[in-house]
Amino acid sequence: MLLPDTKNRAAVPASNAAQKCLGLLAGGYLQSCYDHDQMPKNTTLPVKRLIRRPAPVAAAFAPHSGRPLDKLAQHVTRPSAAPAAAVVEDDLRLTKNAKFSAKENFGKRARVKFLTEAMAVGLANVPGSKLTKSYWNTFYCSSILHKKGGSLTGKYCKNRWCLVCCRIRSAQLIKQYAPVLQSWPEKHLVTLTVPNCSEADLVATKEQMKAGFNRIRHTFQMQHRRGQRPAPLVALRKLEATHNPDRNDYHPHYHLVVPDLASANELRAAWLGQFPSAQWKGQDVRPANAGAAHELFKYFTKLVTTQSKERFIRLAPLNVIFEAIAGGRTFQVFGIQAPKPDEQLVDEEATALAEELNIDAVFEWVQAQADWVDKESGEMLTNYKPSPQFRKFVESKIIYNSPQKSPQ
Ligand SMILES: [Zn+2]
Repeated sequence: MLLPDTKNRAAVPASNAAQKCLGLLAGGYLQSCYDHDQMPKNTTLPVKRLIRRPAPVAAAFAPHSGRPLDKLAQHVTRPSAAPAAAVVEDDLRLTKNAKFSAKENFGKRARVKFLTEAMAVGLANVPGSKLTKSYWNTFYCSSILHKKGGSLTGKYCKNRWCLVCCRIRSAQLIKQYAPVLQSWPEKHLVTLTVPNCSEADLVATKEQMKAGFNRIRHTFQMQHRRGQRPAPLVALRKLEATHNPDRNDYHPHYHLVVPDLASANELRAAWLGQFPSAQWKGQDVRPANAGAAHELFKYFTKLVTTQSKERFIRLAPLNVIFEAIAGGRTFQVFGIQAPKPDEQLVDEEATALAEELNIDAVFEWVQAQADWVDKESGEMLTNYKPSPQFRKFVESKIIYNSPQKSPQ
């Protein structure tokens, strides 16, 4: 079992006592760990004492992966009557709600930070993962926030599994592509699938899907040039992958938004031509309103899976999915002029909150309190309080793989 080295930002072996407290792979991480000396106290970084001068502190834990944060997206779990799923689902709604204050809106970020941090430390302890270092970066994502004047800033990990970064990025993509989607009154959602595959075949399957899609795109392009089609392929596309715990297999698939029904049907037929083993009923075509189209910009896997009516976040299969999609794009557009993102992408939630706060301060994330805290005044940044149900989910339902199995 490894714990983060708060000095060098690398993982180091944990003491026995800390290992015991990192029993999070079997659940029960949050409270016990943060009482422990070996853990980074209150998720703080190598900051001797929090001061109100921001710059030197931020540089010490800037965990940028260097990858663009394009391509986050999709949806965690669809609205469900089941309370545990709803608890997670509600946290990941992206839309700003004018009914709420800036503080309450930022509380939603506290809520996903609370979940993400617990998930990140679990992922960082998945044995043999290629992404351990990146998971630790996610653990530290936005751990310290500096409020100065009209801005509230921190270091964000930009990893696509990070729900904090995903929320920010999704809001930006929705804004960026709104004009395109609004210009397609007849837009349709298309889901393209292939038969589920094993863990060992996930990367190869993903590559085959990509190659098949590229052949379709090329064919449409040729037909367009010959005057056989009015337009080349026009679509927004997202790669998603999910895990089926009952069958222990993986389901990589594409979701697309296309301008109209005819394009959707042509694409489906072409896909089935590329993948004869794919079933017609697996390829879904339906009209898309703006809300449905926005699903494309959200999370790229379901975090929560259900087995025997119990809901869990399973770290081992998620690690398989995250490794399989690492380094590639999950969101791409075809045949449209991609709108240019703002030079400096604005974090609207943070800006709105900064405008609401009167003082300048440094806020530090405290997992046990599920909020950023100004250590000098003791003031909470958002006053977010996880419901007992959500706290229980985060503390006991993030598991290695199945409730019975633990890592080696
Ligand atoms: Zn992040």
